[in-house]
Amino acid sequence: MSVRSIAEKAIDQGKGILRLAPNWVPRSFCVPGRRIKLHPADYYAYGGDRGGIDERWFSSTTPADNGPKTSPNEGLSFIVVEDGSRTEKVTLRDAVSEVKGQIIGPRLWDAYQCWPMYSKFFDNKGALPHHIHHRDQHAKLVNQMGKPESYFFPVQLNNYGADFPYTFFGLQPGTTKDQLRECLQNFNKGDNKITNLSAAYRLEPGTGWNVQAGILHAPGSLCTYEPQKASDVFAMYQSLTGDAIIPEELLWKNTPPEKVGNIDYLLEVVDWEANTDPNFAAHHFRQPKPVRPAGQMHAEGYHENWITYDTTDYGAKELTVFPGKTVTIKDGGAYGMILLQGHGKMGVWDIDTPALIRFGQLTMDEFFVTEAAARAGVVISNPSKTDPIVMLKHFGPANPDAGK
Ligand SMILES: [Zn+2]
Repeated sequence: MSVRSIAEKAIDQGKGILRLAPNWVPRSFCVPGRRIKLHPADYYAYGGDRGGIDERWFSSTTPADNGPKTSPNEGLSFIVVEDGSRTEKVTLRDAVSEVKGQIIGPRLWDAYQCWPMYSKFFDNKGALPHHIHHRDQHAKLVNQMGKPESYFFPVQLNNYGADFPYTFFGLQPGTTKDQLRECLQNFNKGDNKITNLSAAYRLEPGTGWNVQAGILHAPGSLCTYEPQKASDVFAMYQSLTGDAIIPEELLWKNTPPEKVGNIDYLLEVVDWEANTDPNFAAHHFRQPKPVRPAGQMHAEGYHENWITYDTTDYGAKELTVFPGKTVTIKDGGAYGMILLQGHGKMGVWDIDTPALIRFGQLTMDEFFVTEAAARAGVVISNPSKTDPIVMLKHFGPANPDAGK
């Protein structure tokens, strides 16, 4: 079957709701936190040399940049179509290119010609090094886009906070460029002590943060839902995290070749004002915020929060459908979703949250809702007497419902 016929069949079969296959991504420099429901025997399913699986990507049209051993299509989400006894698959990326606005809606297709965000569960046992995602003006020098990202820590995945549930953000107010320069000059001397210039915040399950491009951050070890712009641009500014040494090539990653070795360029990549903001938490910490007055939603059988907001490149909501309720939820734009809890029906699909997933196994916990289906309203019913349905929904840029 051609890409077009699989994509059209998927839209037709799901009545505008596309079923996606789990999309596992290993990282050679990370140790898995083992909170993303993968079978304990499968965390090294790509082979020990590829590193453990500590990410599951959602609604991704972005390939993972995992070095020379990256497997074909790693990082790309696949749409699954059942055709009698056969299962057909096509990448969300190819399906969107083929049927254009039919999946993501004409507004996003006309502006981007692609689905320009993705989200993931990030599940690392330790903290990541203090690193930075370039702003557009620096990313474009290496043919990439700047990358803002946001965090939300689902309570369902965080009974255990792992090794370091604190995140360093930015630089302390008053830090000088000479102090940062000295750390970067010391990159090859073991611990360059860059986090001595920063401050860490305790991570609280059920809350989140926004980090725009150009801000240093060393994500802590809570299991994190992470909506972000579709880009993989970064540079690591910290040389030692926990017990792990970071190779110097990662300090210079995504630096134009003629600037490699130039520490002034690394300093230029840092958005100084944003990093040294004395009110950093007030500007970046995010409490969930109801999308409508809570009483109205509860009377209809659900509760929905914005969890990622005040962002232009993407947004995210957490939807809870109470036990025994059937609700119709309308959204102005296309979205991907991942189920965190419960079971029931969403449109034509049976949905359920797995307790355990084998590598390569299909699930019924991840879908992509086309713009037309989102606008018409998705019917979700929860047959349980006790268990809510909880899902996270990731949206593209300039969500028409944001700010309402
Ligand atoms: Zn990052």
